[in-house]
Amino acid sequence: MTVLPALPATGCRTAPVLRERGQREVFCGLTGIIWLHRKMQDAFFLVVGSRTCAHLLQSAAGVMIFAEPRFGTAILEEKDLAGLADANTELDREVARLLARRPDIRQLFLVGSCPSEVIKLDLQRAAERLTVIHAPHVRVLNYSGSGIETTFTQGEDACLAAMVPALPSTEARELLLVGALPDVVEDQALDLLARLGVGPVRCLPARRSGDLPSVGPNTRFILAQPFLGDTHAALMRRGAQPIAAPFPFGAEGTTRWLAAIAAEFGVPADRFAAVTDGPRARAERAVAQVAERLRGKSVFFMPDSQLEVPLARFLTRECGMTAVEIGTPYLHAEIMGPELDLIAAGPTISEGQDVDRQLDRVRAARPDLTVCGLGLANPLESEGLSTKWAIELVFTPVHMYEQAADLASLFARPLRRRALLGAAQEAAE
Ligand code: SF4
Repeated sequence: MTVLPALPATGCRTAPVLRERGQREVFCGLTGIIWLHRKMQDAFFLVVGSRTCAHLLQSAAGVMIFAEPRFGTAILEEKDLAGLADANTELDREVARLLARRPDIRQLFLVGSCPSEVIKLDLQRAAERLTVIHAPHVRVLNYSGSGIETTFTQGEDACLAAMVPALPSTEARELLLVGALPDVVEDQALDLLARLGVGPVRCLPARRSGDLPSVGPNTRFILAQPFLGDTHAALMRRGAQPIAAPFPFGAEGTTRWLAAIAAEFGVPADRFAAVTDGPRARAERAVAQVAERLRGKSVFFMPDSQLEVPLARFLTRECGMTAVEIGTPYLHAEIMGPELDLIAAGPTISEGQDVDRQLDRVRAARPDLTVCGLGLANPLESEGLSTKWAIELVFTPVHMYEQAADLASLFARPLRRRALLGAAQEAAE
């Protein structure tokens, strides 16, 4: 029998939300290409954008030395509307050249960006036109990674949501895991589910286009990433039913995530306990060791990755931290409800950003740790505040039992560094 920690007497699901709509400090959705191109091994991401977009991708994703790259930028110079016909012809020509040179590409994503010339271009029609030309070998889809209205994790959401309408239909009762996890983590999840007797299990995105899942009214899906609101809606439009659960961060989060799937698929309680008790106990022990440094410390989340609410739940419930403010770019009530139920009332829950006002609140609270975007971390560090870059959390394997202590370590490291710096300073004085 699996006994989970009790829910707080009052959670945050019905807490008032501070909504701010001011200046934001976030990366754009193109960033998602960095992890998506590693996950989807026969996909290519062609950004239709400016030199700025090309620089962002090159500097963030680096150059692939040992393998052919799976992303690139078609740079669109400034054009008036009369030049758009040429732009379409140029795009068709570039795509034809790319696909002729790279027969390994089976899925091509045209990724829109925010320069005005790109916004004028109808990439959806371009994708439809190019699919007709290059079918059946290559499917061409489009989505926007524009920085105008997205946070950086929305790039993955837009990509997966674009894939959903093109997935084949099925009447089969299957579980669909949704969200790009590193292969090693995905394998751990699939192994646990197999041992629970849950199956068949499909993944979106799949590693290769030949393994793309089918979807239909008997599909039950569960998100592995909390930032997939559009994909969630797109799957429901295909008739698939969501499984509501906290996210698999930490020992408790992973257990509750698996328990929600187990309940849906009728896994007996003794089998659930037999499969999860061992890894859960190991994860709890490993997290407790790292949490020594976090216990009693305060944390402030600025809105950035959309992982903020599940991470705040993990840090408050499993690591003994106190959340001052949990800021998130978007608060999806249905997706975040199970997480908010677990967080004891107290922290300010904020949605959106007005960066100066939020920085005022950080300075007033002087939390032990601030989780924020890269652009804010250095200024806050210079004011003596410890910070954690939110973007690191999507580049590091942090889901499921085996990674629970690594997740805690990501937050403990800046506190250790600050303690060492403080000790060195004292010694020098
Ligand atoms: S999509 Fe927009 S924000 Fe992102 S790199 Fe290109 S120009 Fe910059």
